[in-house]
Amino acid sequence: MNKFKATVTTQPLLNIGMVGHIDHGKTTLLYQLSGKWSDTHSEELKRGITIKLGYADSVIKQCEKCNILTTKDKCECGGNIIPLRYVSFIDVPGHEMLMATMLSGAAIIDAAILVIAANEPCPRAQTREHLIALELKGIKNIIIVQNKVDLVSEEEALKNYNQIKEFVKDTIAENAPVIPISAQQAVNIDMLLEEIMNLPVPERDTSSNPLFLVARSFDINKPGAFASNLSGGILGGILKQGKLNVEDEIEIKPGMTSKKHNETIFTPLTTRIVALQSGKNQIKEAVPSGSLAIQTELDPMLTKADSLAGCVIGLKGKVPDASSSLNIHTTLFKEVIGEEKGKEEEMKIAPVKMNEPLMLSVNTTITVGFVKKIKGNDIEVLLKIPVVVLPDSKVGIARNIGGHWRLIGHGEVF
Ligand code: GDP
Ligand code: MG
Ligand code: ZN
Repeated sequence: MNKFKATVTTQPLLNIGMVGHIDHGKTTLLYQLSGKWSDTHSEELKRGITIKLGYADSVIKQCEKCNILTTKDKCECGGNIIPLRYVSFIDVPGHEMLMATMLSGAAIIDAAILVIAANEPCPRAQTREHLIALELKGIKNIIIVQNKVDLVSEEEALKNYNQIKEFVKDTIAENAPVIPISAQQAVNIDMLLEEIMNLPVPERDTSSNPLFLVARSFDINKPGAFASNLSGGILGGILKQGKLNVEDEIEIKPGMTSKKHNETIFTPLTTRIVALQSGKNQIKEAVPSGSLAIQTELDPMLTKADSLAGCVIGLKGKVPDASSSLNIHTTLFKEVIGEEKGKEEEMKIAPVKMNEPLMLSVNTTITVGFVKKIKGNDIEVLLKIPVVVLPDSKVGIARNIGGHWRLIGHGEVF
């Protein structure tokens, strides 16, 4: 293995998404790479699937003596361990109903690890759906892992490898490396780390107006804490562009929701940044990189239970207004992305109909809307939850088919 150059930063250099079919081993692999189980929400544990995006940071290290790459603090050879690169992993759910969440995750990732189980025929439904989502979002840096190789013979592994190569032919992942691993038995993790070290670090825009996409929001106070000891509301997410500093005055749009005569009203919020945290590091200034937490002066009641997820944050007066109707130039797929070729024939995608509900993903927001106008491929959708549309926002479009939200196409806001 080559010797790599160390570029350790206080913020992660890359956001890497874990994608792939349910049960193929994303969460297990993330645990191998970060020492953290991302399935921590009780609801997720109950249902046994990952619902919200899970985050885990990791530092890739190299042994000075034997050159092996690891995320652990020790090498078996006893050599000295040097930190090389700080990265952030995002666990993206694999359940088909949660495709929309997956798309919202794709808005904030630089690269993806596509996990494919070697003991199942390839591709399964979400393997296809997620690869299409990556193509849609233009995520070119993809590493394919062929997981669970401990469960198959060499011959079966080769057959599965050929299926994978056939599946990715003529797609954005055509030239992606395929690394055989066992996430559970920690086999070949060093080879995967080598591919992660080879991923290019994207050029970050630090000079534009800062825009931060809120993926989660929470209240870190313990019940019964005295008011004087309360910590302000926390917002977690990704800084897309620009810089944020402690003490900055910020605004949050569309903001807080309230009910008035049965109608939901959104009120933008303004506050001050009290602290910025990247992984375990407290920082004074944040630049675009991995997931970041902003501590504010907001009443923590306003941020609890992800109530501000999907909002956009910027400097006071600099965030575009949220819109509750979107004009979208749509491109629909020919058929619903299904498991078997035969089934797809029965799942042709009908054109969008007036008044039909669609689920849209814009930035990190998921919103349901009703189609109010149709003109060729252009539609106008009236949204339940208004969204802040950023330049070059791509929209994922899902339709409810047999009780499941299925991706039927994509579009651009105009
Ligand atoms: P996810 O739905 O993609 O996040 O999959 P999980 O990480 O939850 O894994 C699903 C199941 O596969 C769990 O029971 C894991 O223990 C198991 N699993 C994951 N990776 C491996 C592997 O490399 N080998 C074997 N034998 N089992 C694995
Ligand atoms: Mg999982
Ligand atoms: Zn070593």
